[in-house]
Amino acid sequence: MQYNYDFEIAALVVMTIVLLHFLFVRQFPTEKAKTYFKLLLVCIGECVFNILSCIGLADAAVVPEYWNELFAFAFFALEGLCSYYIFRYIMVICELVKRKNFLVKVVGILPFLFFELMVVLTPLNHFFYYFKDGVYYQGYGAWYGYAYISYYFLLNLVLVLIHRKVVHTRLKAIIFIYTVTAVGAIALQYLMRGLLLTSTANVIILLTLYLAMQNPDELLDTVTGMANEKAFLIQLKNMIENGEKKAIITVYIRHYHHITHMLGVENGNQILADVGTYLVKLCGKFHVFHNTEDTFIILVDSEKEKRYIEEQIRKRFLTGWSAQKNNVMLDMAMIVQYYPQDFSSISEYKNMWEYLLEYAKNAGNQTVFETNQQFLEKYRRRNKIEFAVKRALREKSFEVYYQPIYSLKEKRIVSLEALVRLRDEELGFISPEEFIPLAEKNGMIHQIGEQVLEECCKFLSKHVLSNESLGLQTIHVNVSAVQCLRQNLKETILNVLEKFHVPASMISLEITEGTAIRAPELMHKHMWELGKAGIHFALDDYGSGNANCSYLIRFPFREIKIDKEIVWAYFEDKSARIVLQNEISIMKQLGLPLIVEGVENKEQSEEMERLGVDYIQGYYYGRPMSELDCLRFIRKCNERQQS
Ligand code: C2E
Ligand code: CA
Ligand code: CA
Repeated sequence: MQYNYDFEIAALVVMTIVLLHFLFVRQFPTEKAKTYFKLLLVCIGECVFNILSCIGLADAAVVPEYWNELFAFAFFALEGLCSYYIFRYIMVICELVKRKNFLVKVVGILPFLFFELMVVLTPLNHFFYYFKDGVYYQGYGAWYGYAYISYYFLLNLVLVLIHRKVVHTRLKAIIFIYTVTAVGAIALQYLMRGLLLTSTANVIILLTLYLAMQNPDELLDTVTGMANEKAFLIQLKNMIENGEKKAIITVYIRHYHHITHMLGVENGNQILADVGTYLVKLCGKFHVFHNTEDTFIILVDSEKEKRYIEEQIRKRFLTGWSAQKNNVMLDMAMIVQYYPQDFSSISEYKNMWEYLLEYAKNAGNQTVFETNQQFLEKYRRRNKIEFAVKRALREKSFEVYYQPIYSLKEKRIVSLEALVRLRDEELGFISPEEFIPLAEKNGMIHQIGEQVLEECCKFLSKHVLSNESLGLQTIHVNVSAVQCLRQNLKETILNVLEKFHVPASMISLEITEGTAIRAPELMHKHMWELGKAGIHFALDDYGSGNANCSYLIRFPFREIKIDKEIVWAYFEDKSARIVLQNEISIMKQLGLPLIVEGVENKEQSEEMERLGVDYIQGYYYGRPMSELDCLRFIRKCNERQQS
């Protein structure tokens, strides 16, 4: 029979181009990329032997029969592999390989093993083909070849259908498209035996998969050209699944945003690319990842290698990095985590990583942060606190304590500051200084804020709006920066007030300098809207940050609360004294009432009074107290005043 192998040659050209592209781009070596590469090689091999067979058979008079037998043998062996590798590839992208499903494995491998066995036996039993007088004939089992290919197409389809929930829609579409086209090509060949279309079918599959699933940029970072965060997570997942022992070094560039701010984004990117190139040279291309903007991650196999890399990086960062004409020194910190000692899942790794990063951000000039015993204890405590906060929210068991704010002019308690308290069965009392920052990070602060405000409103409606007014004018409630970032802050607060029929004028919201200047536009909006409804604002912790006083007075604060540290420093240090005296004088001239915090004794109180302070909040006038204690305390204190 005369074979037409024109389509096979065209397919070979296309497959060679794909191969060259694959090698040129050098994909990140994931399981998916590795399987695709094997599939590509097998398809090319099959195509080459198919063409060689055709040439050999056409020139049977010249080509010795054993050559033709060899070509046919190789072609059939590779054809068997081809369908099997397509199936393997689908298993990899659907993540079925990792699930170790025994049944899938058996139905996947048995037909393949039988096919290859028959290929080996064919020279003896003429199953697939045989030669007679130099002429090629199809064997009695030729039908099995077609059935075999169709079986795998069907199996892939069934697998995708069974796992349709975890398989990406795009992948489902691709599999359906190539199956229909490839089955069409095979059917055509079955009807027109002389027309060879096997590789045409393969090339359709290879191209569709390559274009849709093997995007080489998917795992590369656009700024540095290195492997990206996604590539790292794939490696991390593999590492955990295979139980490979590794150290993970994060190289963190402190204050990177200052660099982009000063030198521009382009220079910043160039510096990152420079750092990336250095790290790749030091550790190898696929061992370094550009994770987030200011962090790089390195996977290291041994302790010795880890120490060497750490030392080299430390030394390199003692010199500058170039961006155009600038030579910039970078402040760097390295975080080291160990698998499997430190974590057993990706989420655990990430949790710990975030915690370490936070630590590294704020820890001065220390460069290496390892997960030692002391760290692990702190980290575990943090997780327990997070859990305790969740439970307290669920069970509504947060308590609100009230600390008196004393008016020096009226000589009585005029307001209270509401301070949240968390008591846990296992951890005991947890300071808000410990759990509030955590709740801000995981978003639980919104619910905490609402619960605290509700408690305050209940307190006001029960004790202050009732017959006994207690002489209280307002309750100060702390609002965190994260709460202020929400557009609907006004609605949330006013809804609670409405629910308990509390007039807005009885609530003073305390916000810090940092909060006000972080999102000034939004803060202005909130203050304007809530102010219109009657709510007051007090500037908390004044003097603890570095906010500009003239900038802050642009916000409509009703009162200023001076931070306790500043008050304490006043009694210790001459310069602090001068600063506070002047600040108080400025605020007085601006007509802003002043509250000082942290007054613990008579001497401090008298000195503050002498300076012209209006209100005092401190242990000297009362510690934060439970609702009942506070009520007793106010009654006693304000009664004494009246009498
Ligand atoms: P803050 O708003 O500056 O609250 C004043 C803190 O100073 C309170 O600590 C109070 O107990 C303490 N304090 C008051 N007078 C004295 C004194 O004379 N000496 C000393 N040594 N300390 C004094 P606390 O209750 O531990 O709260 C710490 C911080 O936690 C608060 O600082 C505030 O930033 C935050 N916080 C507390 N409750 C809430 C809340 O309901 N919501 C939000 N967002 N933050 C809260
Ligand atoms: Ca406060
Ligand atoms: Ca304060």
